[in-house]
Amino acid sequence: MAKKQFKAESKRLLELMINSIYTHKEIFLRELISNASDAMDKLYYKSMTENLGLVRGGFEINIAVDKDSRTLTITDNGIGMGKDELEKNLGVIAKSGSLDFKATQESMEDVSVIGQFGVGFYSAFMVADKVMVKSRAWGSDETFVWTSEGADGYTIESCEPCESCEEIPHGTEITLFIKANTDDNSGEERFDEFLEQYRIKNIVAKYSDYIRYPIKMEMKSSRLKEETADSDNPEYEDTVEVKTLNSMVPIWKKNKSELKDEDYHTFYKDKFMDFTPPQSFIHEKTEGNATYSALMFIPAKAPFDYYTKEYEKGLQLYSSGVMIMEKCGDLLPDHFSFVKGLVDSEDLSLNISREMLQHDRQLKIIAKSIDKSIRSELKKLLTNNREKYIEFFKSFGAQIKFGIYNGFGTNSDALKDLLVFHSSDSQDDLVTLAEYTSRMKEEQEAIYYAAGDSVQRIDSLPQVETLKDKGYEVLYLIENVDEFCLQMLTQYNDKPFKSVQSADVDISDESEKDEIRQINEDSKDLLTIMKEALNKNGEKVSDVRISKRLKSHPVCLTSSGILTTQMEKVLAAMPDNNKAKADKVLEINSSHAIFDKLQFLHDNDKEKLAVYAEILYNQALLIEGISVENPAEFVSKMCGLMV
Ligand code: ADP
Repeated sequence: MAKKQFKAESKRLLELMINSIYTHKEIFLRELISNASDAMDKLYYKSMTENLGLVRGGFEINIAVDKDSRTLTITDNGIGMGKDELEKNLGVIAKSGSLDFKATQESMEDVSVIGQFGVGFYSAFMVADKVMVKSRAWGSDETFVWTSEGADGYTIESCEPCESCEEIPHGTEITLFIKANTDDNSGEERFDEFLEQYRIKNIVAKYSDYIRYPIKMEMKSSRLKEETADSDNPEYEDTVEVKTLNSMVPIWKKNKSELKDEDYHTFYKDKFMDFTPPQSFIHEKTEGNATYSALMFIPAKAPFDYYTKEYEKGLQLYSSGVMIMEKCGDLLPDHFSFVKGLVDSEDLSLNISREMLQHDRQLKIIAKSIDKSIRSELKKLLTNNREKYIEFFKSFGAQIKFGIYNGFGTNSDALKDLLVFHSSDSQDDLVTLAEYTSRMKEEQEAIYYAAGDSVQRIDSLPQVETLKDKGYEVLYLIENVDEFCLQMLTQYNDKPFKSVQSADVDISDESEKDEIRQINEDSKDLLTIMKEALNKNGEKVSDVRISKRLKSHPVCLTSSGILTTQMEKVLAAMPDNNKAKADKVLEINSSHAIFDKLQFLHDNDKEKLAVYAEILYNQALLIEGISVENPAEFVSKMCGLMV
């Protein structure tokens, strides 16, 4: 039969897989066992929903080693695959779009990424130079054999009725022809170990202990002959016994006291294909309104696709130990979409369809309770281990802020205490809103914030200077979502949030206010000329005014209304090219020498006053980190003044 070629990308990946020097070749077994377990889950689920009458206890995985023929065989009586499925599932490496990413990552060195891309099966080629898959789909009376010796392709043939077909009316038998040991220039590699029963037993215990179906293997051992036990010459005999290698108790059903952190970490890494241990985990068993066990993990780092459209949130959903959904999105609120894990509940019906699940009361109760547990775990982390929390927040804080913004305030109360920001008082550490309000000055009326590209940039904003001088702390917002999030929150502990870049913020006392009012009044004509100069080709500013908020800087730009200049910048960078404009106000420092100059120009050279207006406006834009509209014109005007 003609050999078929793997799809080009699959071929490349296979070559990579075969030729890479992986440190943990042993994981191929975990991958094949978990595929077998999935296949049995699928059939059991089908049986439950279609009343096929299959019992859970009837499913098992068998492993056999044969040193003479150098084969390792893994058999399951799961749902099996027909010809088309063999072709579809094993002829193409699934989700190969991820390949480019994978190939460019250093993490290629780490095996744990293999499964991440749906290529688990192919890891068999790390230890085998030939793989044969015999499979019969449930309900079919035909068995097919898929054979491949690696990157040069595969064949699929119909299998003549044989002994093993009789034995497996449905399911899959995978035979690995284990590679010979090598000891050449490229180094020594040993494969014999994968033909040793004890090695196999240990690998199963290490990676697949929790698999809920028995993993059986014939184990040879030597036993004392009873009749010779009391004699001077005890004799031993070789016996063969079928042993179950795994404990079959899923980790989430075990008691916390039986488990070490390491057990959770290993489980997480294997199950959720991460190569870094989780940042924290939550293991809970709840009875009452909803009875369920949950095991949830907060990853240490955001997955590479986390902030993309492709990322799908959700927890695995089990009903009494049977997986009914790989990713149940309804279990997780969007603001915690980074959480990985599973929920197992007896209260859910196995037959439940996706549509029905959405309206399931029980599921809603569980989701609510999970939301609460994650929140309280994060609060605990924030209180007990600030450093770890900040690490977490760097990866996922934006998601929590999006949660507040997207929820139109409905999640505000639940999430506001999880927020931390840089501030003028703690640029290296981050401050919670509770900490901020607890150290507010007595007369301070609002929680002040400033937004910009970086802490350093914000720290040197003219508007921040006066507040700092007064001893007010200012929150420094450096993420795009920040300002939108705070506007949604509106207040914390009855203190409103106010942008120091807003024209409405005025921290001066009454006598200062009177003084400013007077200067503005006296400079009315000068300010009007400047405003008109700026707006001559379309509106740039809604006002030009004298302000007391500036100390050493000549000018600054503020905005009136809810849309700030920083928000305008964020919106403009959005793909839908939002043209919303902030209502900008140019503020001038009357104590700065530039004001004297402006007054002089007003009396002597009104044309030059117009040029000054434009230059000062552009300078104010630059201080805000916003690019000037016409840099060439700006530069030429500056030069005009310099020569
Ligand atoms: P993944 O398991 O991540 O989807 P694999 O490359 O390991 O990727 O397997 C590809 C597909 O082949 C599986 O999704 C499954 O549909 C099918 N498959 C693999 N092993 C078995 C098996 N033992 N029984 C039934 N189907 C299997």
